[in-house]
Amino acid sequence: MLELKCVSRIYGEGDARVVALDRVSLKVEPGQFLSIMGPSGSGKSTLLNVMGGVDRITGGEILFDDQRFDLLSEEELTTFRRNRLAYVFQQYHLVPSLTVIENVALPIVFRAAGRDITRTWQMLERVGLKHRASHRPSELSGGEQQRVAIARALVNNPALILADEPTGNLDQASGRQIMRLFTELNDEGRAVVMVTHNLQLAQCAREIVELTDGRVVSRSKVFDRMLPPLRGVDNQMADAPPGLSDDTIMGVPPQGGNHI
Ligand code: ADP
Repeated sequence: MLELKCVSRIYGEGDARVVALDRVSLKVEPGQFLSIMGPSGSGKSTLLNVMGGVDRITGGEILFDDQRFDLLSEEELTTFRRNRLAYVFQQYHLVPSLTVIENVALPIVFRAAGRDITRTWQMLERVGLKHRASHRPSELSGGEQQRVAIARALVNNPALILADEPTGNLDQASGRQIMRLFTELNDEGRAVVMVTHNLQLAQCAREIVELTDGRVVSRSKVFDRMLPPLRGVDNQMADAPPGLSDDTIMGVPPQGGNHI
């Protein structure tokens, strides 16, 4: 699906020269779930940005479905991103003056064809927030705002979801809800590439790639993948976290409790 071949990204020149990515080769197959880990400044965000075509590479090539992604014009890239990719950020980037449903509908508004508002409602329901449709983002918790951002990301039915520290601003329980959503979306066949500092959350992925100084230093399969309980996200979700123990996320049913 997505292949980086010997990709470099160098910023600046002379004394200001920074090699953010140093000949990175990486393949993301359909249905893959990859966590990107590494120290601060190791190139994680740059990697995600070049994968999403929001940053240009200075060496190597990127193929998306065997097409030279790095050679597309800005206009072609924008169309491509809109149709195939979704970004989820640590800061949710919701438009504060719009309601929840209007925020989710934004990708549709920008599309010339297929203005099907039904899907907007379906995605909001999918993340358990249909009842909050007419609220403004400021009236929601951080976890709820991130779920709105994910609903918005899903509206165009992306094949690949790129997430940069999606739980970075959230408490543990809300973070788990978000990870549960990502694992569900991945189990449905969408590829996910997620940058995270959190090893436990990283282990929800199928593989972990580690970066150091802009280089891939390891890529390993997650054998004891930590799967947050798989169930649809429902309207009680916002109230559900206390029932989810750390054991639950590791696949061990809580003692005497309801196994969700
Ligand atoms: P990480 O996400 O792992 O913290 P980044 O990808 O943000 O790392 O950054 C990798 C390196 O590239 C860092 O040294 C950073 O300072 C540098 N860098 C990132 N973006 C820019 C930029 N726009 N201009 C110059 N240097 C940058």
